[in-house]
Amino acid sequence: MFSTVRHFVASIFFFGVLSAGCQTFNLQPTAEMAFKTSVDQFLTDYWKVHPEKAAAFGLQAFEGQLVIFDTEQKKRNLAFIRKYRSVFGGYKDGKLTPSQRIDRDLILNDLSREEWLLNVFQPWAWQPAYYNIGRNIGSLLQSDRSSFEEKMAKVAMILDQAPAYYAQAKKNITGATKAHLEFGIQQNRGVLAFLKKTVVPQVRSSRLSNKPQLFKKIAAASDGIKGYISFLEKTGATLADGSSFRDFRIGPKLYEEKFEYEVQSRFSAKEIYKRALSDRKKTHKKMSLLANQLWPKYFPNTPKKVFGLKDIQKLIGEISKKHSKPAEFIQDIRQQIPDLARFVREKNLLYLDPSKPLKVRETPEYLRGFAGASVDAPGPFDPDRETFYNVSPLDGMTKSQQQSWLREYNHYTLQILNIHEAIPGHYTQLVYDNKNPSLIKTVFHNGALVEGWAVYAERLMIEAGYGRNTPELEFMYWKWFLRVVTNTILDYEIHNMNLSKAKGLSYMVDQAFQEQEEAEKKWKRAMLSQVQLTYYYTGFTEIYSFRESLKSEQKESFSLKRFNEKLLNFGSAPVKTIQALWNEPRDPSQKR
Ligand code: ZN
Repeated sequence: MFSTVRHFVASIFFFGVLSAGCQTFNLQPTAEMAFKTSVDQFLTDYWKVHPEKAAAFGLQAFEGQLVIFDTEQKKRNLAFIRKYRSVFGGYKDGKLTPSQRIDRDLILNDLSREEWLLNVFQPWAWQPAYYNIGRNIGSLLQSDRSSFEEKMAKVAMILDQAPAYYAQAKKNITGATKAHLEFGIQQNRGVLAFLKKTVVPQVRSSRLSNKPQLFKKIAAASDGIKGYISFLEKTGATLADGSSFRDFRIGPKLYEEKFEYEVQSRFSAKEIYKRALSDRKKTHKKMSLLANQLWPKYFPNTPKKVFGLKDIQKLIGEISKKHSKPAEFIQDIRQQIPDLARFVREKNLLYLDPSKPLKVRETPEYLRGFAGASVDAPGPFDPDRETFYNVSPLDGMTKSQQQSWLREYNHYTLQILNIHEAIPGHYTQLVYDNKNPSLIKTVFHNGALVEGWAVYAERLMIEAGYGRNTPELEFMYWKWFLRVVTNTILDYEIHNMNLSKAKGLSYMVDQAFQEQEEAEKKWKRAMLSQVQLTYYYTGFTEIYSFRESLKSEQKESFSLKRFNEKLLNFGSAPVKTIQALWNEPRDPSQKR
């Protein structure tokens, strides 16, 4: 059990030796080495405070641990923050390599973010879905580095802690919002279903000798979850009587703070919001030009010269009729993945590692209810685990919901979804990320870089002529891009400007041409999250404008492939820090 930790420390040390060996900087090597030692110590302690994160990153020694979030735990977290703020605050720029400066800044930013979460934002007190053992058990069971017997031993540890974990959850939840409460109930019902439909049958058909004990543990954990669900239901009923739910809008002060800690952009939230407003206008113009080209093909009997939003909507409705059948949705996605890889190679856009296949599967039940599709990739310590492309199946939907969903993810937009989620989007970025020797940049990855890259990947493919430049695909691409732009506008206006649901839905349906079903889902997600919906557009804007400025500087010598690979090789650091490091050719973090 201990060997993983040792292996991990050894690998950090190995990187340390590597970079110390190339004495390319005229820096005090002692300060450089001291910094490495501090990072090792920091991570060792960090995993102890955040064992669930450690397990999510593939550190097996931490699997099976649940954090019971009581006052003692909070004290431990705060002490950890104080200790390492003073350690890393003591490293001044002149003593560190550029890459180490970034690592130091990422660590300090995360410590401040953690402290802000603990003292100010306190999601554990008003977001009931914070408590969910399905995530831990699910990721454990899908790892293929240990035998089923070993995995079940750790699952048993989680099950043992579950009653205390959920008892503490009841104490911690003091003022949920209505949306978060319902989400917490939904997810934990998913956990119950997962235990019953997935874990129990696996145990039953196994050769484990302790089956009766395991069934007992599953029953006890399920009772704990049921108790939590009924507590949430009672809380909901009480709050509904007094209509005293917490407001899901976090307000300008918390919003600006959250944006700063999470996005770490060179733009402020307000600047990004203003850019999004202007991009919405520009995109409408582009779409009306393409509509002019497409209209005669779809409406030959009603000629038109001027195209407003209603006409664009009508055209989208017609083009969206080309879509998968409900039962073939996942199969269609599965078939598209190799085409995307072939195109990326043909056009020389970037290197794809053929040894890391992507597996398309139905989203496990305990993860459903948030996004329609997502990539679930292994962490840096478990690089051999499979990467899954989770797609929520349509069988839980009514006929009309299915039709609405399939029109939204039609023949054209489904391809853009796959570019975003898989190749060369999230999946490709994560494969590069896992090879990056800077663990700090991987562990404290920047969400805006991750989402921004996936949005940039869509533009990259369209610009390279993916889909043989069919105007339909380009037209639908702009519709898709409008969604990213609209996400930013929605998120900003919801939390800062009291945007109403009616107006929010109208932004999505009338101005971004989304289906009602998709818009309702997005509204739900927008109520549950804050700032996260701006990652996409912010990261994209930063990457794209950076690329364009390099292009105009370097003219003919600019290489798109080199740019893409170099950007990904930095790992998931904030774009502004990547820019700051771009011209440091001998930065040790760039050695592969
Ligand atoms: Zn994404």
